[in-house]
Amino acid sequence: MNAPVRRELVVVGAGPAGMSAALAAHRAGVPVCLIDEREALGGPLGVQDRGGRRANLSRDLAEAVGASRIETRLGTVAWGLWDRVIAVVREGHDAGLIEAERLIVATGAYERPVVFPGWTLPGVTTPGATLAPGSGEPATRARRTLVAGSGPWLPALAARLHREGTNVVMVTEAAPRPSPRLRAKLRAAARGAGGVLGEVLPSLAYLRRARVPVIHSHGIARAEGDRRVERAVVAGVDRDWRPRPGTERPVAVDVVCVAYGLFPSTELTLLTRAAHVYAEVLGGHVPVHDEWMRTTAPGVLVAGDCAGVAGRLMAAEQGRLAGIAAAMDLGRVSRARAHTLAAPVRHRLERLERLRRLLDGVYGPGPGIYELATPTTVVCPCEDVTVGQVVECLRRGLGDVNAIKSATRAGMGLCQGRSCARQVLALVTRHLAKPMGELPGFTPRPPVRPVPLGLIADERPELPRAPVID
Ligand SMILES: Cc1cc2nc3c(=O)[nH]c(=O)nc-3n(C[C@H](O)[C@H](O)[C@H](O)COP(=O)(O)OP(=O)(O)OC[C@H]3O[C@@H](n4cnc5c(N)ncnc54)[C@H](O)[C@@H]3O)c2cc1C
Repeated sequence: MNAPVRRELVVVGAGPAGMSAALAAHRAGVPVCLIDEREALGGPLGVQDRGGRRANLSRDLAEAVGASRIETRLGTVAWGLWDRVIAVVREGHDAGLIEAERLIVATGAYERPVVFPGWTLPGVTTPGATLAPGSGEPATRARRTLVAGSGPWLPALAARLHREGTNVVMVTEAAPRPSPRLRAKLRAAARGAGGVLGEVLPSLAYLRRARVPVIHSHGIARAEGDRRVERAVVAGVDRDWRPRPGTERPVAVDVVCVAYGLFPSTELTLLTRAAHVYAEVLGGHVPVHDEWMRTTAPGVLVAGDCAGVAGRLMAAEQGRLAGIAAAMDLGRVSRARAHTLAAPVRHRLERLERLRRLLDGVYGPGPGIYELATPTTVVCPCEDVTVGQVVECLRRGLGDVNAIKSATRAGMGLCQGRSCARQVLALVTRHLAKPMGELPGFTPRPPVRPVPLGLIADERPELPRAPVID
């Protein structure tokens, strides 16, 4: 095995959380190595706007990182992790191991796939893909689009798509419309948290002016069409997001943009053997952490959406806290100084946390989201495994997701289970009549990302140990 290079602090992920963590530690005198698989700083929000405009937060952080002496390795994938030895590869360049005295995992989140009949038809897409460069050709944008999802960012997303030329014919929000009292509470909490929801009301007003209907307590039931989406069937949903019988109606569309939020990217934290817990409102299994963002794995900290999906402001504040904590743990700042530096961060986090709890009450996903598929629905598009095949395994007595993975290959494809893991877990827990959080998900194994074998052939780290899920 090639000898690892040593670094005092490695931060994986250069979104708002990772950049804030790197800057906070760097300002406290820690030499920092910041890694991201993307070719630019900023995470998904950093590149989502066209014409060079980016969210201000990410832009400001990226400029500060660029002007600093932080060692920044972009286009570099962290594909494996053994204790705090990170296997990295930069395609077309080199591969290697980095041993980190402290590691901050800030790997963000993925868009939550929702498995419903027709979800694999061409034309069913996600906000990330819809907003990606190349999707902006007029012919694509002019298509009739249903935006189906839930969450505080939904109106802003729909308004933005419409503004950019997409023919948004309908927006369905699975959550019920908040009562006037709750809306007033949300507004007050959002003001207290620095105007986080500032885009919501203007976006709703924009959609009203544009005559785009926003229908609450409704969701996608299925997509239909010959070879590609021709219509979506939407339905009224109850508080658990289960379609209400007799409420289905077809909507003629060419595109269904499925926007039911995000789920944490925890492959690396699981490889550290840190304890994880299941919290549906945070997006699923998340690493347990203390008030300094330290996980239960020695020397490993977390920040941002990978520790529970909560948006870019929360991610940035958690990143700051993790950066300060790493500097304290490395002896670069005293405990007293760390507490002083952390005090304003904690204050802002408390306000964001208050808002998040309110938002969780409104938009927390209902179990109905996992119950839309039928036996013939493909659950794992990479390996073409249907719901029926998974159910058959359960009937044969296979009672955990990893046994089903071995039997069906669900989760072994290119996306490494990102599309199907949650749905397979939901099928298993429903069959066993257990809550989702009671069973672990797929066990990640390196490489956690598809990497060219030729580049990593020289690296022969030991096999990883099994992760722990509490
Ligand atoms: C389409 C869309 C719209 C959104 N709109 C809003 C909004 O309006 N307001 C809001 O507050 N939030 C919004 N969000 C959420 C927001 O993007 C996240 O909450 C925020 O970016 C989280 O920051 P983060 O630093 O934790 O993670 P991210 O910004 O996701 O950054 C994580 C980084 O880690 C890198 N990474 C992951 N794994 C590896 C690996 N193995 N090796 C190397 N690098 C890796 C990724 O490339 C990524 O750059 C939106 C998200 C999406 C997808």
